[in-house]
Amino acid sequence: MKRGFLKTSKTQARPLGPVPAPQPDSKTWASISTFLSAKFKLVRTVFSRPEYETNDSTILAVPEGLKEKIRYQECDPHGGSTPDCMTFTTLPNGMEPGEPVTECFFFPGSKEVFMNLRGFPQPMVHPSTPAFRMAATPDKGTALFSTRKLKAGDHILTERPLFVGARGAPTEYHANLTREQNTQYALNTLEQHFEISFKRMSTESKEAFMALANSHKEDGSGPLVGVVRTNGLRLSGLRPGVKGDMGSYTAVCKDISRLNHSCSPNTSARFDMLSFSYQLFAVHDIAKGEELTYQYTPINCSAAERNKALVPYGFVCACTACTNAPTSDPRRAAIEAFRPVVTEWV
Ligand SMILES: [Zn+2]
Repeated sequence: MKRGFLKTSKTQARPLGPVPAPQPDSKTWASISTFLSAKFKLVRTVFSRPEYETNDSTILAVPEGLKEKIRYQECDPHGGSTPDCMTFTTLPNGMEPGEPVTECFFFPGSKEVFMNLRGFPQPMVHPSTPAFRMAATPDKGTALFSTRKLKAGDHILTERPLFVGARGAPTEYHANLTREQNTQYALNTLEQHFEISFKRMSTESKEAFMALANSHKEDGSGPLVGVVRTNGLRLSGLRPGVKGDMGSYTAVCKDISRLNHSCSPNTSARFDMLSFSYQLFAVHDIAKGEELTYQYTPINCSAAERNKALVPYGFVCACTACTNAPTSDPRRAAIEAFRPVVTEWV
């Protein structure tokens, strides 16, 4: 899966994200990446890399020693978070050794969303019989395929994310730096935060995380930020009262993040709060052996708009909807126009 993200309101860096959401928010990142690459001589980052380094990225030089007012804490799984303090924690709490858990990098208040949830945590609910396998493809990297005939609505898989984290580093804007340096500084800071979460993962989770694709190796992203930008699904609703991009997180999964894009996807995922897990469902009938696909972008916009939003993922979609745009675009526009709009008043 190829995705992207990141944002601080002051640097204008833009979160990438998953996918069920209707905003093509990766396009700003693409332009930033292009701008950085074209305009500036990039040098390697100044902070140390963990031993698993896989990025050959070049990174814009940023002065050392910048300080932030925002505080951070590592939090026991059973403990609450401190107000005004970013939290590194593991959820769900109370799991037996060997059970899947998620490393989380949260804004204040998000952990409490789960700790205050009656009955949390519940066990994950898996399909009655296995429904997918992972396999290499000649041209699209690793992908998921159905292992049996599926009907629309069938449950394909359940998994707990490897990582759920803030989609941008909450950094100050430093007036003595250029806008591009501020953007790079935010990337560097986010990488350092992701390193803390990564070091808390089990060996198995670390290996699964670093085995995922990284399509952001040459745009200033560190290796962990690159993997998250490439594979993260937008996860909303965990920051009460915060709307928009900064109200959502990004989640990286071992399996669901392997799904390739389609403008006519055959799966959809939902996040189950009580079990802290994603559940993937078929959205129409799927033949045995068919590739399972997912939408990286809004799909009711035009083929040109979809492919513009796919630029950061490094491929051009050649599905039938994209190759038959004169037929497909009006249909999708009609569907989009029909979609009801819900206005939130409180
Ligand atoms: Zn397409």
